[in-house]
Amino acid sequence: MIRNIIFDLGNVLLNFKPEKFLLRYTKDENYIQNFIFKVIRNKIWFNLDRGTISLEDAKEEFLKKYPEDMSFIITFFDHWMEMLTPIEENVKILHDLKSNGYNTYILSNFIEEAFEIIQKKHQFFSLFEGRIISCQEKVIKPEIEIYQKLINKYNLVPEQCVFIDDIRSFLSRARKLNMKTIWFSPDTDLRTELRNLDVNI
Ligand SMILES: [Mg+2]
Repeated sequence: MIRNIIFDLGNVLLNFKPEKFLLRYTKDENYIQNFIFKVIRNKIWFNLDRGTISLEDAKEEFLKKYPEDMSFIITFFDHWMEMLTPIEENVKILHDLKSNGYNTYILSNFIEEAFEIIQKKHQFFSLFEGRIISCQEKVIKPEIEIYQKLINKYNLVPEQCVFIDDIRSFLSRARKLNMKTIWFSPDTDLRTELRNLDVNI
């Protein structure tokens, strides 16, 4: 029987769509792809999630590394958190799950400075029984330790958990630990997927 629903944040409860966001600043899609590769797929960005570098220091490192992109880097760092708007349908599902008696948790890779801001900004953060945020734990998904930290900290029985994430490789780790999983994409009907796992929603 499922008792615990575990949510990822980026692209499950909060939008994180840099391709779309950066179109605000340039229409050059090749430049955008390249910029995303250089910045968001960079080890420095992963270290932000891991909590081993500050946002300000990361920006400085990118400026040093890619001086040709200086103004774009500055604009990006000034505005990227504006991307993090709630995915309202899933927030509604979170509310309904709470009303139906489920325990809810967050398991997310996230950047410290951004997490501090968004958790104050959105009421729904008060609905969770617990949270494991990568920057606070110094481990990131898909490293097995981060899943184990969640299980141990909140005494969860993996068989009673559903984990929802938009990245497939993050789900396979959870399945190895005997959790149920749902891959969330923009086409996913999350309510139906939860019902398929006998969740009352
Ligand atoms: Mg995500």
